[in-house]
Amino acid sequence: MAGASAGYFLSAVGGVTLLEMESAPGYHSTGRSAALFSEYYGNRTVRALTAASRAFFMVPPPGFTDGRLLGPRGVVALCPHGAEERFAAVLASGLTTPTPVREIDADEVLRHCPIVRTGWYSRAMFKPAAMDIDVDLVHQGFLRGIRANGGTVVSSAKVRGLERRGGVWRADTDAGEYAAPVVVNAAGAWADEVAAMAGVRTVGLVPLRRTAFITDPPDGMDIARWPMVADVTETFYFKPESGRLLVSPSDATPSPPCDARPGDLDVARAAERVQEATTLVIRSVKHAWAGLRTAVPDDTPVIGAAPDAPGFVWLAGLSGYGVQSSPATGRLAAAAAMNTPVEIDVDPADVAPERCF
Ligand SMILES: Cc1cc2nc3c(=O)[nH]c(=O)nc-3n(C[C@H](O)[C@H](O)[C@H](O)COP(=O)(O)OP(=O)(O)OC[C@H]3O[C@@H](n4cnc5c(N)ncnc54)[C@H](O)[C@@H]3O)c2cc1C
Repeated sequence: MAGASAGYFLSAVGGVTLLEMESAPGYHSTGRSAALFSEYYGNRTVRALTAASRAFFMVPPPGFTDGRLLGPRGVVALCPHGAEERFAAVLASGLTTPTPVREIDADEVLRHCPIVRTGWYSRAMFKPAAMDIDVDLVHQGFLRGIRANGGTVVSSAKVRGLERRGGVWRADTDAGEYAAPVVVNAAGAWADEVAAMAGVRTVGLVPLRRTAFITDPPDGMDIARWPMVADVTETFYFKPESGRLLVSPSDATPSPPCDARPGDLDVARAAERVQEATTLVIRSVKHAWAGLRTAVPDDTPVIGAAPDAPGFVWLAGLSGYGVQSSPATGRLAAAAAMNTPVEIDVDPADVAPERCF
């Protein structure tokens, strides 16, 4: 998503070649997300980036897509007994968002999602403006735009060497050599490895594995309009997904960059937690997967020109927000590559790579 979004905005003003090591883009984190757009999620900078992306998703540029990118969902966030302090903090910060959260009572929780056990939680809130996002439509829209602007997307092109010679970056890849005056490092979990290979100072990215699985909904219930249901201490969430339920333990286990695989224990933990909090009986797991949410310690994206290498731009550390903030983060990276200003309500210093050193 990161490379596609930056490439999309850059291809409108210059030549772009997007190099992808897999046989198709989107194989790693981008194809493994929970597909939620939430302006309530993340710190102040992340929220600003997400808010700055909303207009693009609501009214995409001509030719971007024929489909709808955002759809109604909402989130019910429950407070497990003993987590009242955490709940109060989440509620307070949710009250400052453009569409504020509101505390709801047990009857309203049941109207949203009739399987929640009332005795399991002490307080609840509703986040009305959280929406489903069609990740594939967004991703394909960016890629189609790159091609329409004359750019190229090269798959099976793992970058194995990156060197600046004569004012030009030269990338040695499985699909041959490519040269360009500017490189955008959007390699997700591998972005520090790519920087190191180019002799650029790394920013300390940590890939964190997150697991999810699909299970059947309760018999005879129409789940289509259920919100996402989550626990404010982040031990589980579930949401409707194509007629079934997507469940996650909200795990964040440090991992090397890799083709992440779900852990049996994480799946079991999510199933146990959801069955405690609801009347759902999880009889089988239809499909489980894991992906890497890659972050630096302040959990804020790393976007901007590397101070120690001309023509090397970072677009990494997108953590759990890389889909929902992609129009804004892509535009910021493109502006850094072109050395032009961009009107997004974020202080460049808050996302700059040098804050990580
Ligand atoms: C379970 C889960 C749920 C999530 N839910 C949400 C959500 O609801 N909303 C949201 O906004 N975000 C969510 N996220 C986070 C989101 O998926 C990521 O922030 C986003 O996909 C990151 O995009 P990326 O392009 O940086 O990484 P990736 O999609 O991993 O892309 C990086 C690409 O770089 C390529 N690459 C790496 N090294 C090289 C090399 N040497 N040469 C060439 N190519 C290379 C890789 O093959 C890969 O395709 C979720 C993530 C997970 C795992």
